[in-house]
Amino acid sequence: MIKESELLAQQAIRRTRVDAGDYFIGIVKAGETIRILDLEGNQAADTLFYSADNPAERYSAMDTIREQGNVYLTAGSKLRSNENNVMLEVVADTCGRHDTLGGACATESNTVRYDLEKRCMHACRDSWMLAVAEHPEYGISKRDITHNINFFMNVPVTAAGGLTFEDGISAPGKYVELRAEMDVIVLLSNCPQLNNPCNGYNPTPIECLIWGSA
Ligand SMILES: [Zn+2]
Repeated sequence: MIKESELLAQQAIRRTRVDAGDYFIGIVKAGETIRILDLEGNQAADTLFYSADNPAERYSAMDTIREQGNVYLTAGSKLRSNENNVMLEVVADTCGRHDTLGGACATESNTVRYDLEKRCMHACRDSWMLAVAEHPEYGISKRDITHNINFFMNVPVTAAGGLTFEDGISAPGKYVELRAEMDVIVLLSNCPQLNNPCNGYNPTPIECLIWGSA
C-alpha cells in the first residue's frame, strides 16, 4: 500500500548517507521514526532490528508474517520480535512492497550461487560483521546475525511457492518509514551485490533519516 509521509526532511534530528557496501548502525527510540530513502532507485537495504534493552529480542520474519498473514511488508505492517512484541510499524511507504524471505548476501552464498571467484566480493554479511566489530557498545555479536528484511528488494513468490530475485520496483526518491514501538537498534547493510538484479547491477547510496517523537 502506497502511503506518503508528512514528515519534513529538514526537521530530521539525524541524517546519514550510506554508500553501497557500507553499513548504518544506531538506536531509534520508542516514538521516533526512521526513514530509509532510496536515493537513486533500485537499491536493496538489508536490515536487522534488535531491542536496545535486550538484543536477544530481535526482528522475527516468522512472527511478523504469521501475525499479518502476508509475506510482504508495506504501510501498516507491524514488525514483530521473536517474543511476538511489536518493535516497529511501517507508517509510510512509497515503494509498496519489501521482502521478508530473500535473506542477505554473503561471500559463501555468492560462491554457491554464482561462481567460486565471487568469494572475494564484498557482501552484506561482511558489512554487518564489521558493524558489530566496530561497535561493541550495542552488545550484538556474530551469533545475533539472523534473518533480515530487504527493504526495496523484489522477491515475488510464485503460485508454486518459488522465490526469485527480480528487477526492483523501487525508484529514485522512494522510501519506507518506520515508527519504533520500543527502543531499537537498527543494523543496516546497503547491499553491494553485483551478481543479481537486486540493485540493478549498479549499487547506489541510500539515506537514513530519524525524527524525534511527535
Ligand atoms: Zn547484499
